[in-house]
Amino acid sequence: MVKRKAIFFDRDGVLIHAPVTSNNKPISIKKLKELKFTKNIVQICKILKQRYLLFMITNQPDFERKNNTKKNIIEINQFIKKKLYLKKIFVCYSKNDSCPNRKPNPGMILKAKKLFNISLKDSYVIGDRWRDIGAGKKAGCKTIFINRKYNEKNPYKPDFTIKSNEKILKILNEKN
Ligand SMILES: [Mg+2]
Repeated sequence: MVKRKAIFFDRDGVLIHAPVTSNNKPISIKKLKELKFTKNIVQICKILKQRYLLFMITNQPDFERKNNTKKNIIEINQFIKKKLYLKKIFVCYSKNDSCPNRKPNPGMILKAKKLFNISLKDSYVIGDRWRDIGAGKKAGCKTIFINRKYNEKNPYKPDFTIKSNEKILKILNEKN
């Protein structure tokens, strides 16, 4: 059976806008009514779904930290899944870095690989934080870092660094 290629998108700051705190750290929205897709992402996903399986992999520790309800998080995620042609979404609710699914651990990517017969070396992880790039590297995917200039260091070296998601198609050699 031919292996399939995938794109693993992070959620906050990649598929949807992430508000930032006063010290320039991104946070998750709480409710669906706050959701705003990032520029051109609907069109980008529409093009990419022709050649790639599209997934969302997201850490949502707000649930375990009691900052948001599972119901709110699921409502947001289901809306994104439907609008952006995603094959499946993977969510880690844990706040504990020992959880194998919590990025930078690659658990969510490895689950998708198993379920959909994916060639990880031909697949991409696209994220705006060091945890996304770490998970992609550990899984053996190519990594695209959208540098939104947050107040944090990235200990992992991404394969590509861009300033906005409009460059994604160019990296993947897709015509707009
Ligand atoms: Mg993010």
